[in-house]
Amino acid sequence: MTTQYDVIVIGGGPAGTAMAGGLRAQGKSVLIIEADLWGGTCPNRGCDPKKILLSAVEAKRQAQNLQGHGLSGVPDVDWPALMATKRGYTDGINDGTLAGLKSQAIATLHGQAYFRADGQLTVDGTVVTGKDYVIATGQRPVILPITGNECFKTSTDFLNLNTMPKRVTFVGGGYVGFELATIARAAGAEVHLIHHNRRPLKAFDPDLVQALMANLTAQGVTIDLDVNLNKITPQATGLQLTDDANFNLMTDLVVCSAGRQPNVDHLGLENVGVTYSRRGVQVNNHLQTANPHIYAIGDVSDTPVPKLTPLAGYEARYLVGDLIKAGAPISYPAVPTEVYADPKLAEVGITAAQASAAPATYQVKTLDMTHWFTYYRLQTPQALAKVVVDKASGRVVGASFLSELADEMVNYVALLIDKQLTLPELQRLILAYPTPASDLQYLY
Ligand SMILES: Cc1cc2nc3c(=O)[nH]c(=O)nc-3n(C[C@H](O)[C@H](O)[C@H](O)COP(=O)(O)OP(=O)(O)OC[C@H]3O[C@@H](n4cnc5c(N)ncnc54)[C@H](O)[C@@H]3O)c2cc1C
Repeated sequence: MTTQYDVIVIGGGPAGTAMAGGLRAQGKSVLIIEADLWGGTCPNRGCDPKKILLSAVEAKRQAQNLQGHGLSGVPDVDWPALMATKRGYTDGINDGTLAGLKSQAIATLHGQAYFRADGQLTVDGTVVTGKDYVIATGQRPVILPITGNECFKTSTDFLNLNTMPKRVTFVGGGYVGFELATIARAAGAEVHLIHHNRRPLKAFDPDLVQALMANLTAQGVTIDLDVNLNKITPQATGLQLTDDANFNLMTDLVVCSAGRQPNVDHLGLENVGVTYSRRGVQVNNHLQTANPHIYAIGDVSDTPVPKLTPLAGYEARYLVGDLIKAGAPISYPAVPTEVYADPKLAEVGITAAQASAAPATYQVKTLDMTHWFTYYRLQTPQALAKVVVDKASGRVVGASFLSELADEMVNYVALLIDKQLTLPELQRLILAYPTPASDLQYLY
């Protein structure tokens, strides 16, 4: 006899597990299916392992900054020990996530989900049925279709390296490329970051991206712009990377960091009338696909927001509510985005470029915060910001930061934007001094 579940969730990452847990808490019967590691990308091969590796980069940076200011001697990154620390966290994720799902009485199946026909989902041959289905299958790294691309490694491989090779090259200047290049360089590798045009990190403020690239270059990362790599050739001394022009580089490891693609293939979506593009599964503003019983959330859904863990949870929470009691279309608050490089680059809300196009409405303030107490104390070499203020209300509506504290600042500004705080309202709060939060008043 086949059990019919209220909802079947495909994908056991942050979106799928939040969805399953939220529905179960509302009394729904739920089956969740995962083909690989329970927990998905973020804790196994994304945000969390990356940030563990970054901890050593941050500590090394602070020690470097304080040379001659109270510290002497810069520590080396001990890669095997750092990797062991990372594994001390990631090794438990799969079993821990699975145990968590079971403790909530969520049914689980391990295997590849495939829609055979409407109302018939198979998991490695077993048929399971649900009243509704939620696709939360995430994304995977793009592998560029160039000659020798079987030599490419991915971010997943990098985050699991037992030893750091002498020469490491990243192909693709998105946030993953910049972050992993930062880690590899701090760990002592000779690092190249190749990008096909002159505008890596194109979603971020161009001036701050330039400043970040200058910082990384000064640290020894070689950034090769306008290079359209088209061949990888294994040689006795390493991997030779070439383009149609004169680019010629030998490396030991080449990581394809040229973006991520939605996991829409191998799901049989054609069999159930679910449409998709290279941006992901097409959904309406209730996250419903072209098939009224099938929904899509998280990285795999084609929604107008960056593909990040907090958005996966946000969409799951929205859809749980909407399935229990249909409500308003989904809307998104201001989303902070971040490049955890050295220094960090982060932005939220209206960008300086958008504000400059509407000068009657917005004022853009460009701040060099390097001499502020917060940064003097840490001897931070550079701390820059662009802040967008709405002229009529005096509220901060957007900001970009480049500094070692950019990740903290951008979250505070997300709160300022969401709570629509004016300067007098902010100043009514007592915030501990001296901290990055007590600097917020100077952004207005
Ligand atoms: C290197 C890296 C660094 C990142 N850093 C950050 C960061 O700092 N901050 C941040 O917010 N985000 C970061 N992200 C993005 C973040 O990991 C994703 O946004 C998040 O994991 C999306 O969650 P999801 O549940 O939608 O997808 P996923 O976490 O990818 O989970 C989808 C799951 O579905 C499974 N699946 C796929 N197909 C099937 C199938 N047919 N049947 C069954 N199961 C299937 C997959 O195995 C996977 O486990 C990073 C990503 C990477 C790769």
